[in-house]
Amino acid sequence: MSALPGRLTLITGPSGVGKGTLVQRLLLLHPEIWLSISATTRAPRAGELDGQHYFFLTRDAFEGQVAEGGFLEWAEFAGNLYGTPRQPVQAQLAAGRPVLLEIELEGARQVRQSFAEAFQIFVEPPSFEELERRIRGRGTDSEEAIGRRLERAKVELAAAPEFDAVLVNGELELALAELEQLLGKGS
Ligand code: 5GP
Repeated sequence: MSALPGRLTLITGPSGVGKGTLVQRLLLLHPEIWLSISATTRAPRAGELDGQHYFFLTRDAFEGQVAEGGFLEWAEFAGNLYGTPRQPVQAQLAAGRPVLLEIELEGARQVRQSFAEAFQIFVEPPSFEELERRIRGRGTDSEEAIGRRLERAKVELAAAPEFDAVLVNGELELALAELEQLLGKGS
């Protein structure tokens, strides 16, 4: 199965696995792909911009949008809420563009309910030790947040077999080429 125009693809995998970097590299190569910008109640990290990396919302504002049905999916992750704004995704799909969501496991499961035809990719680290090294190396999270993310990673990794494809992100260039193949965009 490959991602045809107007198809919805989602990429999941534990925090720190490098899916953000993979996705950004993919978009440089294939600007026709539209990446959804999520909303979150998490505080911005250094360098993150509102409306570009995320829409940063208060918990009240986020919950208001949940009540209005404004999210395609949403989930709590490591103490913060994250959600995919529904309307822009629907508009892009209707316009025939390939749409990409980069979300965590619970959200992926929700999308599966409403878009059975979505192509679902799970990104794995080469090992758990390497994942821990990457999360710590990012240097942006507190020790408490790192602990929460590592605990959650164990749960997420166990869910890999639920997905259409599992991509091991060891060497970035190799993983990127494999991702392109999966999306039917390989050379
Ligand atoms: P981070 O705080 O590191 O940016 O993201 C934490 C986790 O939330 C990552 O696994 C990321 O993929 C996920 N995430 C980002 N946006 C969304 C979203 O809209 N919905 C869901 N369910 N997860 C998201």
